[in-house]
Amino acid sequence: MMRLPRFEYFAPREVAQAVDLLARYGPQAAVVAGGTDLYPNMKRRQQDPAVVIGLRGIRALHGIQAGEGFLRVGPTTTLHEIATHPVVQRQYPALAHAAKLVSTPHLRRMGTLGGNLCLDTRCTYYDQSYHWRKSVDFCKKKDGDICWVAPGSPRCWAVSSSDTAPVAVALQARLRLVSAHGERTIDAGEFFRDDGIFYLSRKPDEILTGIELPALDGWRMAYQKLRRRGSFDFPILGVAAAVHMQDGLVRDARLVLGAVGSSPVDETAHAQVLVGTRPTRETIAEVAANAYKGARPLDNTDLNYAWRKKMTRVYVERALTQVCNLEPA
Ligand SMILES: Cc1cc2nc3c(=O)[nH]c(=O)nc-3n(C[C@H](O)[C@H](O)[C@H](O)COP(=O)(O)OP(=O)(O)OC[C@H]3O[C@@H](n4cnc5c(N)ncnc54)[C@H](O)[C@@H]3O)c2cc1C
Ligand code: SF4
Repeated sequence: MMRLPRFEYFAPREVAQAVDLLARYGPQAAVVAGGTDLYPNMKRRQQDPAVVIGLRGIRALHGIQAGEGFLRVGPTTTLHEIATHPVVQRQYPALAHAAKLVSTPHLRRMGTLGGNLCLDTRCTYYDQSYHWRKSVDFCKKKDGDICWVAPGSPRCWAVSSSDTAPVAVALQARLRLVSAHGERTIDAGEFFRDDGIFYLSRKPDEILTGIELPALDGWRMAYQKLRRRGSFDFPILGVAAAVHMQDGLVRDARLVLGAVGSSPVDETAHAQVLVGTRPTRETIAEVAANAYKGARPLDNTDLNYAWRKKMTRVYVERALTQVCNLEPA
């Protein structure tokens, strides 16, 4: 049995106390929400914070509130709450659906939206016990200096495997970050970095304190997920597709892929073929063919990477067919 290492635990009641603790303990501290990612990682010694700051006791970080033209979601709101909330289901069905597809019912009742957006990147050579990693020699992401996936590479290619991340980018969600030095709000697209180690632009002393979803008037959005077992697994491909329809014509379109790189891959440029048109199976196939070229999965997650790349075409077609209300082929 793998045990947690020793650590000091704090349970602040206010955001100000949490960011003061982060500032005081610096890189040796980590925040935890549901703990469904951090604690397994600590058991495998992938992360070894001496101090853990629990966010679940901070009421201001929890809940779903409707504002003028937007919906604000607290980061410790659980995935179960997101998936079952009537306003999220009605106005942001792709987000509710993506949250519902994360792992299992137990983990969705513990796991949070904030934790899902900040989820550590994954790799076959990294998501292993300490002894496994030691036996093959550690890699760049933790304790080593080589990448076993691409030994000549100067960077880590661990994969962004969050279900809600591509949806948040496609929704153009705004994320609020607070530290002891102040606060800032950034687009979800700027939050994720294409680097397996430094995969967030969140600074180590910042806490994600709010997720703001803009109104989706006229937009239709879908999320499609590929994984080995439909009841359980992380995505090995996620497709978030959205179209803004007016009088049967596409006025705008967005397309974001998950689990094919170290960050969500924004393929919106390829979806522009649809703009100004009445969508057809042919135009959708054209978008899917171009999106396929942009997906470059590597051999560091589940199933065959060449097959995963091929499936990009299939899943993009499915997601766009769904949002454009066409009958599946
Ligand atoms: C068996 C299994 C299957 C899983 N399947 C999936 C899946 O299919 N899809 C999927 O997306 N995920 C999956 N997960 C991962 C995880 O359960 C979810 O991503 C969950 O949403 C993580 O949320 P959490 O609150 O538990 O995160 P935590 O473990 O609490 O935190 C995760 C990371 O985010 C940071 N963090 C958390 N909250 C904040 C905040 N407010 N500000 C700054 N940093 C923060 C933590 O420091 C940590 O690094 C799976 C996990 C397991 C164990
Ligand atoms: S991509 Fe390379 S450096 Fe990154 S976790 Fe995998 S083996 Fe390690």
